[in-house]
Amino acid sequence: MKTIAIANQKGGVGKTTTSVNLAAALAEKGHSILLADLDSQGNATSVMGLGEITGHSLYHALIGEKRAQDLVLPTRLENLFAIPADLDLAGSEVEVARMESHLTQLRSAFDDLRRSGAFEYAILDCPPSLGILMTNALVAADEILIPIQCEYYALEGLSTLMRVISGIREAANPGLGISGMVLTMLDTRTNLNNAVVKDVREHFQEVVYETVIPRSVRFGEAPSFGRTIHEHDPRGTGSLAYQALADEFLQRQAKNIHFVSPDGVVANS
Ligand code: ATP
Ligand code: MG
Repeated sequence: MKTIAIANQKGGVGKTTTSVNLAAALAEKGHSILLADLDSQGNATSVMGLGEITGHSLYHALIGEKRAQDLVLPTRLENLFAIPADLDLAGSEVEVARMESHLTQLRSAFDDLRRSGAFEYAILDCPPSLGILMTNALVAADEILIPIQCEYYALEGLSTLMRVISGIREAANPGLGISGMVLTMLDTRTNLNNAVVKDVREHFQEVVYETVIPRSVRFGEAPSFGRTIHEHDPRGTGSLAYQALADEFLQRQAKNIHFVSPDGVVANS
């Protein structure tokens, strides 16, 4: 099982939208996927129709009470399983911080799942903060995938995120790779958005996925119906973009392409 953390401490950049729709696209292509919701807001959980369930969040794994394996639930989509979030997760920040092994709780909880071979990929939807939940996700992960919103302040906070990644490598997870950066919410009608894409590509070169996720009102609608973008608007630009991202993600995986540093220095396989 390869574990991919979808993370950026910046809020509202498309982490949850990417987690859900990339996971669903990969599942539809026949890969067995676990989508784990690490955000107590539970947005990914409610899209998967698991919002009413309590006692099944990673909180129980983080405090060492349950194994992650025992928290996995099936979803309505074939090949897609989930570990839902609930409000308990918010409390785990404080409880886990007190533990001596506070960085490695999630990784330990995932041990059985990793060994079981039940899933090809685990996708972790991270909350928008640099707290315990996100650091645990980065310690448990093989790779981080970073959504970046096409906006004026797109690059803000990325140097902090890179420092955090270096710190995690030193402290607990030397092999943590960068799967890539995904540009989200592109409005091609605005020059500013196009300039941001150019800027980010110049800066981060091949670390940035070719696929860019367009801005579409459909993304705002889909969660209110409890649907993925593929269920809500299967032939729309948004669904096609996440299918293309899934293909590109799988190509990188097949070639074992990932990055150590984001500034164009490629260090893979
Ligand atoms: P948070 O930091 O709060 O967890 P997030 O990074 O997970 O946020 P999302 O929840 O995925 O971000 O997206 C933020 C908002 O932007 C949501 O309302 C979502 O529906 C909308 N959104 C995401 N992607 C797109 C897109 N490509 N086009 C239009 N709207 C989008
Ligand atoms: Mg989110």
